[in-house]
Amino acid sequence: MNSLTKSRIHYTKPSITALEIGYATDAAANGWGERCYDYIYRFEALFREHLGVKHAIATSSATGALHIGMAAMGIGAGDEVVLGDINWIASAAPIIHLGATPILVDVLADSWCLDPAAVEAAITPKTRAILAVHLYGNLCDMNALREIGKRHGIPVIEDAAEAIGSAWYGHRAGSMGIFGAFSFHGTKTMTTGEGGIFVTNDDDLYEKALTLSNHGRARGEARQFWPETIGFKYKMSNLQAAIGCGQIERIEELIAGKRRVFEYYRNAMRALPLRMNPERGEVINGYWMPTIVIDEHVPFERSALLHSFEANNIDARVFFWPLSSLPSFTPHPANIVSYSLSSRAVNLPSYHDMKDEELDRVIACVSKLLAAQS
Ligand SMILES: *Cc1c(COP(=O)(O)O)cnc(C)c1O
Repeated sequence: MNSLTKSRIHYTKPSITALEIGYATDAAANGWGERCYDYIYRFEALFREHLGVKHAIATSSATGALHIGMAAMGIGAGDEVVLGDINWIASAAPIIHLGATPILVDVLADSWCLDPAAVEAAITPKTRAILAVHLYGNLCDMNALREIGKRHGIPVIEDAAEAIGSAWYGHRAGSMGIFGAFSFHGTKTMTTGEGGIFVTNDDDLYEKALTLSNHGRARGEARQFWPETIGFKYKMSNLQAAIGCGQIERIEELIAGKRRVFEYYRNAMRALPLRMNPERGEVINGYWMPTIVIDEHVPFERSALLHSFEANNIDARVFFWPLSSLPSFTPHPANIVSYSLSSRAVNLPSYHDMKDEELDRVIACVSKLLAAQS
């Protein structure tokens, strides 16, 4: 069979059922006027309940949620925020938009997340936050990061955009930092098309973020059109929230779908010279993105694997680049784990209802290539 006769295996796709379609249809037909916030409030309430947090503000993206949250913390010009070098740009961009500087440090080889020792070494009098990004569903070492933060008086923010379904010693990802941000982009475990959410247990930070999220208009302000400060416009629409209500009602099923796909891959590729997303100790991984990292001693050409996927009509993606290797940053090759991961790792397709035959096709490409190269 050539690629033309094999059906396309997409990288990700959302799981949308009659439930989401019903809510979205209702929102389109009736969610206006007096009812224009109904699905937004309901979605925020369901999300708070899922995560076990006090406050939530639905946003148009995780990028917006991070921007609002860091602005509410007062992060600005001259400040520094420490994060892992290997990351999606969305985690770093809001720091730069606020006039602050992202300090890119290396990650751990097993979790692909912040190396606590590197974080501690990067702290200066200008450090205002540690941004813990839970990459591909893997969790940062929250005990170590919070302990470092406490010792230096620096809060830990959680970018949990990829970590719905992940938990650290009984606490859901996103619920442990000064605030957390999630993404509901179409590639994520649950989606609203585009969308995100800001969550926190901190009452003061919530009030500030709420005002900023509403173009600087404070809750309880009697005057119409009266912003007390310059805020943002990163709102989720009622239509998107309607889809979100369906998704969050189905969240356990969506996470289970991701975990099933991951476990199928892991079981089938156990004997191959590679590692996948870890799940150790009291940690649960939501496995948003099954990722293979080829062992260092194995000769591996990432482009050969990508070509093989292409020839088999499979859409896979490269691991993130080190941010410091991008044109807008100063190169930092001393972050050796980040640079090495980027060259040896590939994300595998992982939609919730992927069939065994589809998974087998992906696995066959990986096995064949590693057999040929080792
Ligand atoms: C997807 C993602 C974001 C950005 O989410 P948007 O909703 O697209 O803004 C931020 N951080 C991480 C780690 C992501 O994976």
